[in-house]
Amino acid sequence: MKSYIVFDLEWNQSSAGRECSSPRLSFEIFEIGAVKLNEKLEKVSEFRRLIKPCVYRQMHHIISEVTHVSMDELERNGEPFTKVMEDFIEWCGEDYIFCTWGSMDLTELQRNMMYHGMEIPFEFPLLFYDVQKLFSLLYSDGKTRASLDEAVEFFQIQVDAPFHRALEDADYTGKVMSRMDFYKIEDYISVDYYQLPETKEEEFTLYFPDYTKFVSQIYDTKEEVMADKQVTDMVCYKCRRMLRKKIRWFSYGQKFYLCLAVCPEHGFMKGKIRVKKTEDGFVFAVKTQKLVGEEEAEMVVKKKEETKIRRAERSKAKKLAKGHAQPQ
Ligand SMILES: [Zn+2]
Repeated sequence: MKSYIVFDLEWNQSSAGRECSSPRLSFEIFEIGAVKLNEKLEKVSEFRRLIKPCVYRQMHHIISEVTHVSMDELERNGEPFTKVMEDFIEWCGEDYIFCTWGSMDLTELQRNMMYHGMEIPFEFPLLFYDVQKLFSLLYSDGKTRASLDEAVEFFQIQVDAPFHRALEDADYTGKVMSRMDFYKIEDYISVDYYQLPETKEEEFTLYFPDYTKFVSQIYDTKEEVMADKQVTDMVCYKCRRMLRKKIRWFSYGQKFYLCLAVCPEHGFMKGKIRVKKTEDGFVFAVKTQKLVGEEEAEMVVKKKEETKIRRAERSKAKKLAKGHAQPQ
């Protein structure tokens, strides 16, 4: 039977500022807390462990204020990270999926595991539920992100323990999950980007009810990503037709490329590519494709026009600046 592992981490960072931060580990986990939920989203088990720090020996003042954990306590009751993780993975069991409030915890967990020379035993791609995102999809616009205490208040869940401790936050997240209409949106799974496709074979596509998401392999440069046909091709996810583009890929803002394709049977398909950077300087693409109506298709056309105008203005400004700079 499948279980949901709702977990939360507390981590410390350099108390002397970023310059004194370890380049390989900016955030050192000092507490793991988790609850295991069954398929009815009922809590069946709990996990809580403190970790003895080995990178940052001083508590960052904000973190000690928020969590009320002291270095003394960690030195006294903390166990080595590797031991705690081995116990945690064993406690997770066989058939489970991770759930977290927000999208950072799995990345930081794996980064800490790598730092300690552990192998990553998780499946690839690593899918998980971002409960904060699900909450927004159900009760807001899908884009804004509420804090955990706001969600707890929303469901009038009794606050009987302080926030910002790992087990308590995991428990609150689990309670929010069990109160929300979870099975209505269980298709909206998230994917963690800590481990990325390194070859074509490892690239993958996720299918959602109203869009698809493709994650490319890593490349050295943005130009190389955008030269990959699999990244830029638009294929209808309903009928598998290769689509003709009404508007070819154009860059919109710093982070996005947009395009508009047409399926003769299913209508307009909007494409969006985000070129994301990895921490070791590589890039990869996340492409989403979505069937859209006339109105949203028109928005893409407008955005294309906007960028054209802006580009023209910029080059005009450049020419003028050059003109002024020329000696008389
Ligand atoms: Zn189609």
